Amino acid sequence: MDPTSPDPAALRAKYRFDPATLRAKYREERDRRLRPDGAAQYTRAAGEFGYYATDPYTPRTERPARHDRVEAVVIGAGFGGLLTGARLREAGLDDIRLIDEAGDVGGTWYWNRYPGIHCDIESSVYLPLLEEVGTEPTWRYSPGEEIRRHAMAVARHYGLYDDTMFHTRVTELRWHDADDEWQVRTDRGDDFRARYVVVSSGTLTQPKLPGIPGIETFRGHTFHTSRWDHDYTGDKLEKLADKKIGVVGTGATGIQVVPHVAAAAEHLYVFQRTPSSVDERDNRPLEPGWTKSLPPGWQQERMDNFLTIVTGGQVSQDLVGDGWTATAALQRTFLSGSRTELTDEELELADFATMNRIRARVDAIVTDPAVASLLKPWYRYMCKRPAFSDHYLPTFNRPDVTLVDTADTGGITAMTPHAVVVGDTEYEVDCVIFATGFEVGVSGIVSGTLPVHGRDGVPLLQSWAHGPRTLHGFYSHGYPNLFHLGALQNANAVNFVHILAEQAVHIGAVVAEARKRGVRTIEPTAAAQDAWVATIRANARDTFTFQSECTPGYYNGEGKPRPISNSYGPGPVAFHELLRSWRTGDGFEEVLADAS
Ligand code: NDP
Repeated sequence: MDPTSPDPAALRAKYRFDPATLRAKYREERDRRLRPDGAAQYTRAAGEFGYYATDPYTPRTERPARHDRVEAVVIGAGFGGLLTGARLREAGLDDIRLIDEAGDVGGTWYWNRYPGIHCDIESSVYLPLLEEVGTEPTWRYSPGEEIRRHAMAVARHYGLYDDTMFHTRVTELRWHDADDEWQVRTDRGDDFRARYVVVSSGTLTQPKLPGIPGIETFRGHTFHTSRWDHDYTGDKLEKLADKKIGVVGTGATGIQVVPHVAAAAEHLYVFQRTPSSVDERDNRPLEPGWTKSLPPGWQQERMDNFLTIVTGGQVSQDLVGDGWTATAALQRTFLSGSRTELTDEELELADFATMNRIRARVDAIVTDPAVASLLKPWYRYMCKRPAFSDHYLPTFNRPDVTLVDTADTGGITAMTPHAVVVGDTEYEVDCVIFATGFEVGVSGIVSGTLPVHGRDGVPLLQSWAHGPRTLHGFYSHGYPNLFHLGALQNANAVNFVHILAEQAVHIGAVVAEARKRGVRTIEPTAAAQDAWVATIRANARDTFTFQSECTPGYYNGEGKPRPISNSYGPGPVAFHELLRSWRTGDGFEEVLADAS
């Protein structure tokens, strides 16, 4: 029987669990991990810890500051920026400047180069523009390097390398009414003008460190997984053979990196606070020529099919058929817009069944029952990012790997010059690798790290003092020709690159229409914006109850969840349909009113 079957009695009979006991166990495990300091427990990779965030891959070169004019500037050269750059190119813009704090394109795939990195969404639906660019993914779940190279191929294909500013951070955007242009300032002294500005600065961008007492006293080597130190480890980790290594963190990154470090190091200590759910991966090479043999339009069809399934819609065939599509119903609890016919009680039972299967998988693979017990996740499926690996759990059968559980001490207790301390026990290590994740939403206009002054110099966050105000999440009244990408008042889904791809298409279409009509400014009317804010509020999904029962993590604000989701409640499939109707109907009138 499918574990997401809507028959609770059958589920109870088949899986023989008592929901009340599981509910109590989940609560107990959450309470064991809740900390009053929430997200404040972390240390920023800035100031004296700034070296954790510097770029180890590309040397920073000096260049003269620019004081010129471009048609469009795209802030952020990850997939969101690349996709929008591509669509602006197709809309006829010649003059597009890409800016990023990294040394090249790729965004998260530029920064994250740890051994074992790959995407956990199938490459055929994750890697955008495969048909347009002609890339053939070689693995079902692509290694990070293949994804990074594809990002570079996208940039080359659309001429987006023609004008780039890497290792550059935009520090201010200021609108000038007289010229219908944005003034753009950067930390490299640039001060130039742009007709259009696109902000695609990502959500998980800034590495974070645990606030461990004594972390600064550690005399061994240390770095964050998103700034992999190949000089220290060697390209094939060969330099770790005589090293005792500590990996801190067992999220989606830790799961991927641990088996590789374990195989290379003299000894590996894995410091775990909360175990991830680790399901089967089944990665395999793709048959050469497979994607090229498919009919034109196959990728959009496959992406739409995947998105429809994971958000609870009906399809005649599951084209991807993996761990994400199999648990679609359970994702309803996390993402706004996922639909399912199951009641909350039936969903909870299906969730228990799935997690029981994942816990049973730990027992089946890990030979030491005490270690297996520590590796079992006790929370609902979407409380944390689900992980998939066929190599992670067997790693704990190795004699040279020690799992150190830190749940009862709230994480690592302290660091000394040569050791990591948990409770009263010191673990002597040569190197500590932090797989401790990222600050959420600290870059860009919403966080205020990029100040934006619109018409009459009004700061964007002042206009948003009582909450964000946008039309479709893309633009705001008083801030012409400024587009932002992201889930805010827009859509959200596990395959976020698909969301970005639809956003890029929409922005490209709006800019193309403005050019066709000879309109210099694109800006939602106040009425259209008010109507959208009201729509978002009216359809907002309550994710609070589910999130507050979860074990802490970045999904629920470290135990302090947001009251409601601020994405479009009916979900991404409905949202994309809404955008298409808006474009083919009279939607453009709402943003192109200033025809000159
Ligand atoms: P996470 O925030 O998910 O994980 C951080 C880990 O560090 C957790 O296990 C956390 O434990 C642990 N930790 C934090 N502080 C301490 C402490 N003081 N002592 C011990 N442990 C500590 O970061 P990741 O980098 O793993 O993943 C971030 C996101 O990046 C993912 O959710 C996913 O969206 C994305 N990603 C995607 C991949 C893909 O294949 N598409 C691959 C990798 C990442 P605790 O849980 O108890 O807080």
